[in-house]
Amino acid sequence: MSESYAMEQGASFSIGITPYYSQHVEHPALRKTIIPQETECRLNPGEWTDPLGEENHRATPHLIHTYPDKVLFLATPFCSTYCRYCTRSRMVGKPQEYRSTYEETYKYIEQHSEIRDVLISGGDPLTLSDAALEDILIRLRGISHVNIIRIGSKVPAVLPMRITPALAKLLRRYRVWLSLHFIHEAELTEETRFACNLLSEHGVSMISQTVLLKDINDSSAALTQLFYGLIQVDVKPYYLLQCDPVKGSAHFRTSVKKGIELIRSLHGNISGLAVPQYVIDAPGGGGKVPIIHSSQLKREGDDLLFENHEGKIYRYPDPLKAHQDNEVVS
Ligand SMILES: *Cc1c(COP(=O)(O)O)cnc(C)c1O
Ligand code: SF4
Repeated sequence: MSESYAMEQGASFSIGITPYYSQHVEHPALRKTIIPQETECRLNPGEWTDPLGEENHRATPHLIHTYPDKVLFLATPFCSTYCRYCTRSRMVGKPQEYRSTYEETYKYIEQHSEIRDVLISGGDPLTLSDAALEDILIRLRGISHVNIIRIGSKVPAVLPMRITPALAKLLRRYRVWLSLHFIHEAELTEETRFACNLLSEHGVSMISQTVLLKDINDSSAALTQLFYGLIQVDVKPYYLLQCDPVKGSAHFRTSVKKGIELIRSLHGNISGLAVPQYVIDAPGGGGKVPIIHSSQLKREGDDLLFENHEGKIYRYPDPLKAHQDNEVVS
């Protein structure tokens, strides 16, 4: 079967699943997001090992500086569960990428007074100890021009028992916004809802990011259930991300047309508070581009061309064949 073949071939990147996620999050479609499939081993047309061109914007060993006023602080390569569609699959789970200390990174942020927003990511920063997190937060809060501190994490979905009152207090003390990764309503188990409620009771602000995934959450019903479920635990849906063309991700990507149809159906039907912004992260490093209408996109063969905030043109692989397959199912 395709899973054992993928294992034998050597999956493209790290494999890891928490016992909690494998035992308590029950939905057949979620299996392929954590267990490698045969298709993961291929490099399909238009795919990259570094789809967002992050390596070209690496300012220090731990810092990606793509936009002027915000930076991505890669605090750890470790995740408790590895998503098979991860944009950073080239580096997650590989400790050798993170040998140096954070000192150079703090200095860089100190010296760049245009930086207002630090998004601590990885890997998953909430897999660090409270003490290690506090060390980072103390240093960042000590930099007067840093206004916003965010942490990107999938821990509430895959390891909700990590969310303790002590952690919640710590996050609140340093006014951290949590940007949580959720892809399906089945992830909102009793344990996960408990974890989100605990964070909310401690005053931690939370937003969510959802990757649009073929046959997993690419229907109005699936997205509506997820976004309403998130609102119920005080998490504001922030981004619905078109899946990045990372190596071996073709089986996860929907057409952009489908994404537009879905987001429009949500806008017309559910509370605006529950509707995230649909974005394509421009491959090659153009930044996130909100997509609201097909008039923003121009087809060139199997690619879609669109403009980023600077008026530069980027292309996203959107094979016509997959497009037709999508239309048959929709
Ligand atoms: C997504 C991202 C951010 C944060 O972007 P927002 O649109 O402000 O949420 C910052 N830096 C990089 C490199 C990113 O990919
Ligand atoms: S949790 Fe985030 S960083 Fe970790 S594997 Fe999933 S998408 Fe990648």
